[in-house]
Amino acid sequence: RIVHVNGEFLPEAEAKVSVFDRGFLMADGVYEVTSVLGGKLIDFAGHCLRLARSLRELEMTNPHTDAEWLELHRQLVARNEIVDGMVYLQVTRGNPGDRDFAYPAADLPPTVVMFTQSKPGLAESPAAKTGWKVISVDDIRWGRRDIKTVQLLYPSMAKMAAKKAGVDDAWLVEDGFVTEGTSNNAYIVKGNRIITRALSSDILHGITRAAVLRFAVEAQMEVVERSFTLAEAQEADEAFITSASAFVMPVVQIDGKDLGTGKPGPVAARLREIYLDEMRKAAV
Ligand code: PMP
Repeated sequence: RIVHVNGEFLPEAEAKVSVFDRGFLMADGVYEVTSVLGGKLIDFAGHCLRLARSLRELEMTNPHTDAEWLELHRQLVARNEIVDGMVYLQVTRGNPGDRDFAYPAADLPPTVVMFTQSKPGLAESPAAKTGWKVISVDDIRWGRRDIKTVQLLYPSMAKMAAKKAGVDDAWLVEDGFVTEGTSNNAYIVKGNRIITRALSSDILHGITRAAVLRFAVEAQMEVVERSFTLAEAQEADEAFITSASAFVMPVVQIDGKDLGTGKPGPVAARLREIYLDEMRKAAV
């Protein structure tokens, strides 16, 4: 693979970042994952906007303009001949040359790392036909989940708990209410009504969430942004998750309880189709 580090494109084995990089020592950095379908970037503008917001919240300078980010993404996709897959990008606070809790001077250049992952047939995932099973786990993450930081240890632990339980993912629960999945936003469906937690610092503001809710309203579905409990989710007609890499994925079982028929529901299937159609049309 050809990866990108601080303005250079080079073979992955030659890419190097300092041991003093604050991303490595303090998880002091942010990231984005943009899907590629047919060689084009899905919802690139949405990812740029959120990246800028995450950086701002952490008082980090955005090292590139949106046009420069686009060019870097396109170069990586082309050099790695990615048809379907994703581009990962992270910006960390850089290498102050030593370890210190205080932020280094604001003019220290951040570290930019980008790489691709090839996923042929990404949009034709067989899992979308069968749906995901999830378990619930306590949400014990920090209080700024709206910032897309590289501090992902607890979501990894939750994903491992799901794997050990023989299911696909975990839904995180706080004060009795579902916040989100390990790396996706969570929804339940009752009749024609789609229910998903409102935006706050409790959850990541999903790029896919914003697009899917817009398409749902356009398709005359009712969208209600409110919290829901695990028990309510288990009694729902259907459920699904959204993320930039899984798009819209049906959820068919929660903590061993089948939802409805135990098969993916029509609302999730329809939203997945609309999302993929519309986003392919708008891809850059
Ligand atoms: N919540 C969390 C915790 C996530 O990590 C992600 C994926 N990055 C999402 C939600 C979904 O966000 P998006 O649709 O922008 O991928």
